Amino acid sequence: MSVVSAKRMLVEAVTGGYAVGAFNVTNVLQMQAVMETAIARQAPVIIQTSVSPTKFLTPEVIVAVFRALAEPAPVPACLHLDHCTDAAFAKRCAELGYTNVMFDGSQLGFEENVRATRDVVEHCHRVGDVTVEGELGTVSGVEDQVRVAESAAELCDPERSREFVERSGVDLFAPAIGTAHGVYLTENPKIDFDRFAQIQQKVNGRVVVAPLIVHGGTGLKPDVVRRLVALGGAKFNVSTDLKHALIDATYDYIATHRTEYNPGKIDTAAKAAVAQRVNYWIDLLGCAGQAQRGGADGA
Ligand SMILES: [Zn+2]
Repeated sequence: MSVVSAKRMLVEAVTGGYAVGAFNVTNVLQMQAVMETAIARQAPVIIQTSVSPTKFLTPEVIVAVFRALAEPAPVPACLHLDHCTDAAFAKRCAELGYTNVMFDGSQLGFEENVRATRDVVEHCHRVGDVTVEGELGTVSGVEDQVRVAESAAELCDPERSREFVERSGVDLFAPAIGTAHGVYLTENPKIDFDRFAQIQQKVNGRVVVAPLIVHGGTGLKPDVVRRLVALGGAKFNVSTDLKHALIDATYDYIATHRTEYNPGKIDTAAKAAVAQRVNYWIDLLGCAGQAQRGGADGA
């Protein structure tokens, strides 16, 4: 059984000194590209979907495809719902077979974020081995239906991070530290490493309570990613990178084969391009060959 909870997978990552890629997908082709690459590299993997594509494909179809790909796979795998602001939909996805959901209450006040996140956490833990990611502070940029201007983005307060994790009961914690969704608008985005280190110390100082999640992986320079992994970053969300790979490869193939009507060839080109980016992230995060640590043996 290689479908595991994200928390179990990520505690292993933190203690093993590597991180896991959480790849945002919008269709079956991308799910296959991510899973096949993870298997080839013996890497634990998280497949995640934003709310809009989840509603478009339906969570039932996504869960069915995920299970068909993940259950026979010799690597640990999770299915994660990303940035859901609708508690009822998050709960429904947990009931249908998502192994991890993110309830994004970052636009709410602190107390309301704690209360609403806790409500989702309690439900998911009742449903089964479903873990929950919560966010404090706001990540700028556009992620599906969540849009935050850079000027309005608010970094996570380390002093409140432990309180948020304890009171909400989240299993994974996404603190805003200056990363952004989409394409970075500046060459060197200002990432607050000190803040990230303080949060890691406060939340996971003695024992790993809630592994830290880094949003906005696309466009981060390799040395930035490695530094965040060394400071305890356990899950890196990669979305825009895969979307660009898919669309650019599809466009290029069609543009150069304008009279050919063979969807399989377009899909093959697109899948190879997505797989190449997944390989890049697996190398950068250091999770190749970590499948056994990641919980594939059911430990
Ligand atoms: Zn995000």
